[in-house]
Amino acid sequence: MNALALALLAIEARVRDAVVEQIEKASRAYGGYLAAVLASGGITDGNALNSRADLHQALLMLLNAAQRNVSDQIRAAYTAAVQIARNALVDELSDLGHETGTDLGNLGSTLTALLLDVENSFGRARIEIQNGIAQAFDGVAGDNDQVTTVRQLAVNAALTRAATRLRMRSVATVSTSVHQASRDAQTAMLRNYATIHGYATVSKRWRVTSDNPCGMCKALHGTVVGVTDEFNRNANSGTGKLRPVYLDLQGPPRHPNCRCQIELVVS
Ligand SMILES: [Zn+2]
Repeated sequence: MNALALALLAIEARVRDAVVEQIEKASRAYGGYLAAVLASGGITDGNALNSRADLHQALLMLLNAAQRNVSDQIRAAYTAAVQIARNALVDELSDLGHETGTDLGNLGSTLTALLLDVENSFGRARIEIQNGIAQAFDGVAGDNDQVTTVRQLAVNAALTRAATRLRMRSVATVSTSVHQASRDAQTAMLRNYATIHGYATVSKRWRVTSDNPCGMCKALHGTVVGVTDEFNRNANSGTGKLRPVYLDLQGPPRHPNCRCQIELVVS
């Protein structure tokens, strides 16, 4: 693995940890509110639990705060990865004897799409948490002390499940942000390069770094296209199904957790 790939993985790991911590913090805090409300009694069913204004407010407040923080983290990760990828490409072109500007120009709409992913993930989480805890509450019948304890556990487990799904979706967005950033920086730089130097001298080649790539990446491996062209969206050598492309296929990642890279080829 080269220096760029390692640097991207380091950003990804750091931001992933920060994002996970935010979500777990919010989940723990909401679990505390839930426990207090359940312990105080008087809740008749799951719907009544969700209708508690104080609980509802707490959930919105905690999710909104976490969402803002996760969005900031994604934005920072994207920006950092763009800078690193740009610098790596400037060096790579320079090593090939091609000086190029460092101006990134238009990076496209990836960051907007990523922030929308975050918004959607948190919106879904809110619904999953509310539905999950209502179902968990209603799934335990009766109203003695023992039932209250069992219900408490069931509600907590439902909250944890919803938080886990949010965490998984957010971690996937972190991964996408870092690797799409690298691709966007390369795309923008190569577009500038092609404008300045003309098209034919440098092209880009898809390269897998994983020992066990998926069928799509395996099929893309070694294929060469012009620096401003897309790779083949339909390439697939495996039996796995062809996944949709996120935005475009100017370069990796082909899918979440794709570790492929492009390398420049001088013709
Ligand atoms: Zn790949």
